[in-house]
Amino acid sequence: MHDFPISYIEPVFRPPSEAHSLILPVTNGCSWNQCGFCEMYTQPQKKFRARDEAEVLEEIRRCGERLIVQRVFLADGDALVLPTRRLLNILRAIREHLPEVRRVSSYCLPRNLRRKSVEELKELADAGLGMAYVGAESGDDEVLARVNKGETYASTLDALDKLGQAGIQRSLMILNGLGGQGLSEQHADNSARLMNAAQPEFLSTLVVSFPTGEQRFRAGFPDFQPLDRAQLFAEVERLLQGLELRDTVFRSDHASNYLVLKGVLGADKPRLLAQVREAIERPQQAKLRQEWQRGL
Ligand code: SF4
Repeated sequence: MHDFPISYIEPVFRPPSEAHSLILPVTNGCSWNQCGFCEMYTQPQKKFRARDEAEVLEEIRRCGERLIVQRVFLADGDALVLPTRRLLNILRAIREHLPEVRRVSSYCLPRNLRRKSVEELKELADAGLGMAYVGAESGDDEVLARVNKGETYASTLDALDKLGQAGIQRSLMILNGLGGQGLSEQHADNSARLMNAAQPEFLSTLVVSFPTGEQRFRAGFPDFQPLDRAQLFAEVERLLQGLELRDTVFRSDHASNYLVLKGVLGADKPRLLAQVREAIERPQQAKLRQEWQRGL
């Protein structure tokens, strides 16, 4: 749109649940950009930089003149890398110029929060930051090292605890199949352990996939043996069995998943486990997505 108040550098990504949000880039790319399974920000135009603060504030002001929005997603890959002061300026401008906004969210890397205190995060929460999407990917240190995530079980839990204490909702992502056949069980067990310790408000699983090839991934994980469909289900079953969550919305409905699962954990754990068992034992009868239906 020629006169849209925000300028974007494509491609731009957002979580599925932010489909109706105003996407506001406050950074370009991802400050880490080294995960072996991720090619979201590898194109040259997506090289990481913080966007000019005055430009972002002016875009918010111009959005206020033309748009009515209720949700804003701060892009790109890890907006929370910005200093707290700058984030507060952005959140305050949103509040001033877009007063209908009910929730601001962003992706967050655990490393973004190492130098932010709980008090700073509380300030951000008070200024409107309501949700952080954290791609934990796994709770297993060996898997995290193989895929070059740059995080550990401990660093991820530390960030999740800080967010929780600040009152910012946590939406977690775990990548089904990320450890391959060799590390599948420890991937499931330690991911469950991490979720149990963090008790996130939202949890989703995606299936690891390589739409543009495995070269980058295999450089760090040369003996990776992908899971077949039945093995992916077995891994999800093991993860679900290990989860002891009190009140977490669980979703496995991303386009990469063969089996769509939705529920609230712990209440729906028996039903979700029964659905996975059905997919393992009677795949013809279970409602599975076919390969062509998986939009990768
Ligand atoms: S931190 Fe996220 S956006 Fe950055 S490289 Fe890893 S998966 Fe991709």
